[in-house]
Parts: sequence; C-alpha cells; structure tokens
Amino acid sequence: MEWIHPMPKIELHAHLNGSIRDTTLLELARVLGEKGVIVFSDVEDVIQKNDRSLDEVFKLFDLIHMITTDHQTVTRITREVVQDFALENVVYLELRTTPKRNDSIGMTKSSYMEAVIKGLRSISEVDVEFVAATDSEKLHNSCDGVGRKKIYVRLLLSIDRRETTESAMETVKLALEMRNVGVVGIDLSGNPLVGEWSTFLPALQFAKDNDLYITLHCGEVPNPKEIQAMLDFKPHRVGHACFFKDQDWEKLKSFRIPVEICLSSNIITKSISSIDIHHFADLYKAKHPLIICTDDFGVFSTTLSNEYSLAVRSFGLGKRETFALAKSGIDATFAEDEVKQQLGLIFDSASPEYV
Ligand code: 5GP
Repeated sequence: MEWIHPMPKIELHAHLNGSIRDTTLLELARVLGEKGVIVFSDVEDVIQKNDRSLDEVFKLFDLIHMITTDHQTVTRITREVVQDFALENVVYLELRTTPKRNDSIGMTKSSYMEAVIKGLRSISEVDVEFVAATDSEKLHNSCDGVGRKKIYVRLLLSIDRRETTESAMETVKLALEMRNVGVVGIDLSGNPLVGEWSTFLPALQFAKDNDLYITLHCGEVPNPKEIQAMLDFKPHRVGHACFFKDQDWEKLKSFRIPVEICLSSNIITKSISSIDIHHFADLYKAKHPLIICTDDFGVFSTTLSNEYSLAVRSFGLGKRETFALAKSGIDATFAEDEVKQQLGLIFDSASPEYV
C-alpha cells in the first residue's frame, strides 16, 4: 500500500500534545530528569508503552503537559508536528490544542497561543499557509518552486473538560481574537468521565453564535444523556462516536454531522473492542460524511497513512475509493471556500494516480 503515503490527505482531528515525536518527548524528559523535576527512568517506560486504556491516556497527558508547557517547547512541538504532517502529504491540517495558563512561568492562554503561532511561523522546510485567506499576509514562507510541500493549517482551540464555564469562555474569546491568525473553531475534549455538558454549553453556544465552528468529543464513554444533548446542539463535527445507540445514529445521520474517525485510538483505548465491529463500516456504507484521523499520533504510535492502511485492510477499500474518501474530507473542513477550492485542485491534480 505504498500509494497511501504520497496520496494527498486531510487531517481534522489531531491534538498538538498528543502528536509529539517520541524522540522529542524523551529528549525533553531527559532534561527535566537531569534537573531533578522528574525521574527519567519512570517516565521513559510510560512514554514508550504502546498499550493504554483511556484513563492511562489522560494520566500520560498530565505527564506530557509537565514536560512541554513552556513557551519555547510549545513553539518547538508545533513546528515539528506540522512538519511531520506535511512530510506525509497532509495538505490540510486542523490542529487543535488547549490554551494553558501557568502562572509560575508567566504563561497565559494568550501567550501559549502566541507560542503556537511562533511555531507555525518558524517552519522553513515546508510552505505553511495558516492565516485566513482574507488576511493580507497569506503565505509566510516563499515557495522555491518544484518539490516543496505545502500545507494549509487551521487551528482549533480546545476546552478541557476539567475547565469551568469562565475558563471555557476565556478560550472562546481568545479564539475570536485569533481569527486573523487561522483559528477557525473550538473543540471540547479531555477526560470524558470528568465535567458536565451544562458547564461548557454557555461558552460553546457563544462560540457558535459568533460563527466559530464547533467539534465535540462525543460518545467516548457510555453517557446517553450527554450524547443526545451534544447532538441536539448540532455541532459542525463530532469525534469518536464510540458509544452511540440507535437513536444517536439516527440523529447524527439526519443532521448529517461529519464524524472524525480515529481507528487506532479507539482500538488501543479499547473504546471499540475489535476493528471489524468499528462504526466506520456502517457510516461508510451509509455514505455518511466521515474523515479518517490520527487523534494523537505520538501517543498511539501511528501516522495518518497508517490509519488509512488500517481502513483499507479492515474494510476492503480500493485505491479509488480511498482517494475519494480522502477527498471528501474537504467538505468537512472548517476552511474558507477559497481554501476548499484550492484543496479540490490539489486532489484533482493527483487523481490520475488513483483511478
Ligand atoms: P493539547 O490540547 O494539550 O495540545 O493536547 C492534549 C489534550 O487533548 C489532552 O490533555 C486532552 O485534553 C485532549 N485529548 C487528546 N486525546 C484525546 C482523546 O482521545 N479523547 C479526549 N476526550 N481528549 C483527548
């Protein structure tokens, strides 16, 4: 399946701190180990472990955040994550991250996001287009012609389910202020066993009323009431949808809400017991909009190409169908029409290889 890697791909569900190279994480952990902040040998095992429950995933994130939450590191990991996606021929990336406050180092949610933007601006190996098409500053790296990869990047600000209504609102207001640097929407994520839907609803409604796009982690655990409330909110996309019941599928399908599918993540965390019963198959058969994503390529040791290969092997997709599936992701992006058109052209020019 060597044709998957060069195929243009769209990534819509990728968490910044879940997508760090293992080598970078180990390097950063070693430095903190030398400073006595952590015990490196303990951390090394945790980082290199491949099999994790959903609960262990969130414990790992607390550790990752200890290692990465300073401005310089946030800039570095943003740069590396975008480079890694571009090198795998991801042509459009919606990268999500939770703006963090850390008083001890003078970090505010806003300065955290400035560090992210600095990371985007610092990429020189590939061309990155991350500001809205209406902005005069379009492409910050000049293209040197043939052979350079180009990636469109848009940002989603995540609300962590541990946050209060006020803190969630602060994130939404920050997203509104950052629309001119490529922020297009809001994500609700974090441990699904923590927090109540009603806590986040005011901020999410405010975001929606102000034309930000919304994607929700929905149905990662069995919580029928919350799943129905989330669907009634009519988000622009949902992620995971592992514990949906018949009435949830009906609603999702009648609203045509696209689903971000993260196969390895769902299998590794045992949210879905086996790939052959994954809801991908039913949604695909029903021609429901769906898009294959990585979730956390560092944490789940995967790549977007690997996720496509898994879908091809598990659900018997052919080359042409896989290409059509990847291209159909354009409609599910939160990009401006002009960018959607450009993406259409990129896929069209690649299509002779996939017929
Ligand atoms: P960050 O937002 O810090 O860049 O990325 C890591 C954060 O994304 C985690 O702390 C968590 O809040 C969220 N996240 C990453 N993967 C998952 C997932 O599979 N499910 C949920 N609900 N949240 C996730």
